[in-house]
Amino acid sequence: MQTISQNESNFKSPGEIFFNVLKNDVDPNKIAMIDKVTKKQINYGELLDQSLKLAEELKALGVKKGDFVGIVSGNRPEFFVPVLACFFLGAAIHPINEVYLLNELKAAFIHSKPKVMFTTQDHFEKVLVLREITDYINNIINFDGNYLEIIQKRSGLNEKQIVGGCEDDCALLLNSSGTTSFPKSVVLTQRNVKTIFNYLKLPYIDLNTENVFIGMMPFYHCFGLILGLGSIVNLSMMVILRKFNPKDYCEIIEEYNVTCLQIVPSIGVFLAKHPMIMDYDFSRVKDIVCGAAPLGVEVQDALEKRLNCKIRQMYGMTETSGLISLVPTGDESKIGASGKPLPWVDIKVIDIDNNEEMAQGGIGELCVKTIQNMKGYLGMDEDTKSLYWNDDYFRTGDIGYIDENGEIFILDRLKEMIKYKAFQVSPSELEDILNSHEYIVESGVIGLPDERAGELPMAFVVKRENVDLSEEAVKEFVAGHVSLHKQLHGGVKFVKEIPKGASGKILRKTLRQLIK
Ligand code: AMP
Repeated sequence: MQTISQNESNFKSPGEIFFNVLKNDVDPNKIAMIDKVTKKQINYGELLDQSLKLAEELKALGVKKGDFVGIVSGNRPEFFVPVLACFFLGAAIHPINEVYLLNELKAAFIHSKPKVMFTTQDHFEKVLVLREITDYINNIINFDGNYLEIIQKRSGLNEKQIVGGCEDDCALLLNSSGTTSFPKSVVLTQRNVKTIFNYLKLPYIDLNTENVFIGMMPFYHCFGLILGLGSIVNLSMMVILRKFNPKDYCEIIEEYNVTCLQIVPSIGVFLAKHPMIMDYDFSRVKDIVCGAAPLGVEVQDALEKRLNCKIRQMYGMTETSGLISLVPTGDESKIGASGKPLPWVDIKVIDIDNNEEMAQGGIGELCVKTIQNMKGYLGMDEDTKSLYWNDDYFRTGDIGYIDENGEIFILDRLKEMIKYKAFQVSPSELEDILNSHEYIVESGVIGLPDERAGELPMAFVVKRENVDLSEEAVKEFVAGHVSLHKQLHGGVKFVKEIPKGASGKILRKTLRQLIK
């Protein structure tokens, strides 16, 4: 195993970078993260100290380079302690949505098989059962339980023990529905993690020491996780809001003089339309970036007028280590545009019928070549060629065009993924559940457009002859198998058949036309 002193390559691992920054560049008393509601906080000195101690514990538990450590927890100040501890060991962290039901958790961890799992009291019982029904979890660390004892008994890894030089190793394993079929685990390497530091500063996202950020995007999703890492590496302060609550959100902005907001469209709708906004002083907000799903043109316009500041839409995805297009702060951008590719990102637009590159302005699938591209999906080695155009341009599954000024416009989604309030929902996962119902012959799931949520999962269902099956019963059945954001908020429509192409693939476009 390489250590800092033995590392011959010039590559500095995220572990080495975070160690150096936290050790040398910050007042240890500065608050790194504070929870708006519980007021629980962690300062930079504690963050480093606890991460080194936890790394020592994980090492003693057998976690090493190449291993995965799971987290099933909501946003909280300690969340990044195991993340940094894994970076120090050259291991990878696999965070999962804490509201997942047991069967969803089991499916999510199927390839990574974490030896150690972090969780909270709220989800402890569920993780205990997961340990019983699987064979890979050796230890569970409860942030509200044995975590403190562990921190107290350890003295911490020393600088020489920090593992470096494994740029191709997985650092973050994040869930995504991918372009088709069931959810997958995206392997982001140490190199990928380093490249995100390039956009987490001016002129893109102004995470500087003076600024305060709102840690509301879930830390298990690349948006929240990357912002959290950016906040730490730039030595900013993050105010955590575990669940969106209009009053708390507005209070944070006013109380902490927040100048930059990173939002998803549903928050954009709230900021543009909710009367409560007028009761607060948002005058210091100078910069708003919005991503993870399309922001309606009317909402963008209303929001810009109401808060008197420009909104920059950003575009990216988990598979590209988050953000790949955004205009630099202060640059002009057309309303509805999703930014310009970052300088180290090359985007080609490909004809969806013949796979040829389109002429400038042509509409097609966006394909991306960048050092930010993921290494692949864990456990899916055999099928990776189809993920790329011309060997190394990742097929985003998004339809759009690039205008004469180089700005990207996203028009539609070729891939199956549904985005409910910026949460990914895989139609295949829901269809599989629906098809397991004894009264259902087959089903097809799509996203029903909705101004607030973006899309609502909606099912077309063919039921068996002469059975009594109501919409409510179908919704309840699905709700028993999946967490809230995947439920059939868009309703159920009973049909005679599900339209399919020659290869048997569900024609979702035809289903979408049925609701128009
Ligand atoms: P995720 O991996 O969860 O971040 O989801 C990535 C997907 O979200 C992209 O492939 C797009 O389909 C969608 N998306 C992200 N940003 C935008 C945007 N600015 N406009 C439209 N869709 C977006």
